[in-house]
Amino acid sequence: MLQSRRFATAKFPSETFYCYPTRQFPSKRPRLSKMAQVTKINVKTTSQKYLIHIGEGLVKNLNQILNESGSSERHVVISSQPIWSIHGSEIQTALGKTDLVLIPDGETAKNLNTIATIYESLIKLGADRSTTIIAVGGGVLGDVAGFAAASFLRGIRLVHIPTTLLAQVDSSIGGKVGVNHQLGKNLIGAFHQPIAVIADPLFLQTLPRREFRAGLYEIVKYGVIASQSLFTQIHDGLDQVFDRKPEVLSKIIAESCQIKADVVSKDERESGIRRILNFGHTVGHAIEAVTEYRRFRHGEAVAYGMLAASYIAMKRDLFSSENHAALFSLISQMGPLPSVSDLSISALLKAIHRDKKIIKGKLHMVLPIRLGETTIVNDLNETELREAIVTIGVPKGR
Ligand code: NAD
Repeated sequence: MLQSRRFATAKFPSETFYCYPTRQFPSKRPRLSKMAQVTKINVKTTSQKYLIHIGEGLVKNLNQILNESGSSERHVVISSQPIWSIHGSEIQTALGKTDLVLIPDGETAKNLNTIATIYESLIKLGADRSTTIIAVGGGVLGDVAGFAAASFLRGIRLVHIPTTLLAQVDSSIGGKVGVNHQLGKNLIGAFHQPIAVIADPLFLQTLPRREFRAGLYEIVKYGVIASQSLFTQIHDGLDQVFDRKPEVLSKIIAESCQIKADVVSKDERESGIRRILNFGHTVGHAIEAVTEYRRFRHGEAVAYGMLAASYIAMKRDLFSSENHAALFSLISQMGPLPSVSDLSISALLKAIHRDKKIIKGKLHMVLPIRLGETTIVNDLNETELREAIVTIGVPKGR
């Protein structure tokens, strides 16, 4: 059984509402003094072609990147108070005078109320169809600001500047934007591709270790579904990854982005291959749902979900026991996961059956067949799901 230690229930940042338009002026010294190699990755979906720019100190060149991406002169930055207080001055210095809308942070603020306040701010600022929204923050901020961009005036341009590892390798790419409904996560949304994604690993230096690790689980996911070499890099170089050396991070971020870019370029709307990105999400989403999105970071729940899926694949002789052990050992070495020992199997099974992965009454699940390749099955039975859930630490019979 995976050794897990109980975390205090995840605390979301203050619910204080900061949503207001402010005029910002260049301030303070820029912290990003270094300009290193930049990797550019193409995303070519049917609705939009754009580049993901990855590199240390990239934000210094923000204006140039925006110009090259076809951004308008008029920008509105959307961020949150905690993120802006750490990284705002760098972006401000690079952008010059711009409009800023600060919204509340955290999963509890990912809702239509926040969207309404963004609309209000945009209207008060006189934003029009030529305005570009620049979303600066983690996955929550990007999803919320992205949905505002998708719907305001039937859609305006969007640039993502992701500041968490998860957002840099996952949520800022592929155009899924949206908010939660009180009856479920991400139930309201749209596909709205950005015109550029700007991922600077220097932002990750200030990320709490737990958030960093949560993003890293998604990189492990990319390794399992599409790249044995990425998996091995993390597995063999875990200490260096946790040291957060920007050159090490740039490399694994670029490889992850390339995988996501390739997948979403082939299947923008998740009707086929994009579903492989859901590896670990069947059980992962259920864990998040039964704990009301408060105890687990998304990546942590996906980590448990990957172990459960890997176990099922191993039991079906699709995935070798060595590979299952390698995944188990990597996830264990990455650090403690919040406990699942008080969760109920029947509640998890109910949540799994409510999830979006049921197609025509059949539950689909992505299973690994080797490191770097997966298959999708639709003939899961409850017994094997139960057994897999028990192996991750959920008590039998509850
Ligand atoms: P998050 O956006 O909640 O950010 C986590 C915390 O880190 C926040 O408290 C934030 O203030 C803080 N933070 C952000 N950047 C920081 C920095 N550089 N330094 C210090 N603190 C910083 O969490 P997340 O993991 O980035 O995103 C999770 C969200 O992403 C979920 O809502 C999930 O549904 C969504 N998501 C979307 C997609 C997609 O395709 N759109 C994919 C995966 C996940």
